[in-house]
Amino acid sequence: MSQKKIFCYMVIFLMILSCSVQEKVNSKYKINSRKYNAVSQGERIRYIVLHYTHADDDTSIMLLTEQAVSSHYLITTKKREPIYQLVDDKYRAWHAGESYYDGRYSINDSSIGIEIVHMGYDEEAYKKNAKKPKKNDVKVIDYDYYYDYNDVQIDKVVFLLQYLIEKYDIHPKNILGHSDVAPTRKQDPGPKFPWKRLYTEYDIGIWYDDEDYSLFMTNKDYASASISEIKEEFIEYGYSSMPSNAVWDKESKQVISAFQSRFRPSKVDGNIDKETYAIIKALNKKVKDIK
Ligand SMILES: [Zn+2]
Repeated sequence: MSQKKIFCYMVIFLMILSCSVQEKVNSKYKINSRKYNAVSQGERIRYIVLHYTHADDDTSIMLLTEQAVSSHYLITTKKREPIYQLVDDKYRAWHAGESYYDGRYSINDSSIGIEIVHMGYDEEAYKKNAKKPKKNDVKVIDYDYYYDYNDVQIDKVVFLLQYLIEKYDIHPKNILGHSDVAPTRKQDPGPKFPWKRLYTEYDIGIWYDDEDYSLFMTNKDYASASISEIKEEFIEYGYSSMPSNAVWDKESKQVISAFQSRFRPSKVDGNIDKETYAIIKALNKKVKDIK
């Protein structure tokens, strides 16, 4: 054996020795992650929550990077800018706040948050024209007060959602708006967010079938359903914030308004009506069909 070869073997031997010594010094016990593997495990990321920032580009970046709020992704208004990732997917971002959906609290723990730079609605026009809500009524911001989303932003949202849905195997029902998970506090992404277009053009998220909607509009279910039975439909779908009492109190109306903003954006007054009822029934049927 040449001297060079002997030297090489000695170096390798010393390296192995130093590794095993280090292992003994640093760890009291070993963790073996290879010997056994549970079949019952799944992706920790279960939901994607969409937001608007209610601020311009610079303010949104400042708020989401320097304050006590954050999101995994940020889509600015500038066409040529990339989609910014502010928080790694494996970490928790602070975007949903106090939230309750699908029987789960604190949706930050199990979701990815996407913020879209968008000013929300025209507050001046709203304050000038809107009627002040009565004691038990919800604050109704009609569709027309909201600003449009720009097409490039929606294109980026589609791209990002397609990527994340595939990566984490997200169920169609679990693509949500902030108002879905916090209906008493939040209105974003608002009634102008194109949920229906995302479903019909890109197969993203969920929408009801027209024939089911027509069926529930024509049958006599709504006339005979009690308040509790109607509310149960919303709870079943995922709106856990819906109070299970038998009155249409303010909180219940806020849930209805959040639902309308998502699935019946032309009228978001928070009052249950036959159309809203037919939509929730058609959606619950659709969820069963997906399963
Ligand atoms: Zn939000």
